[in-house]
Amino acid sequence: MTVKHPLTQMPVVDLSECIRCGICTEVCPQAFQMNAAGYIEVVELTAYPEPEVNEAIKYCPVHCIDWE
Ligand code: SF4
Repeated sequence: MTVKHPLTQMPVVDLSECIRCGICTEVCPQAFQMNAAGYIEVVELTAYPEPEVNEAIKYCPVHCIDWE
């Protein structure tokens, strides 16, 4: 019997739109970090905290975060 795994979703940030306000890193520091160059990076996780990521999506002022 094969065990089916649900497709995992991950958040993506459109860096061409991101204004680097840092809100996502405050709302969901588990998933979003600002790197040394000042750009937002999505942390590699096996599962993402959906409510917090959804909060970040909601509060991003330029709406450049989405699930993929
Ligand atoms: S909240 Fe949106 S605009 Fe602000 S740093 Fe995060 S991705 Fe960029």
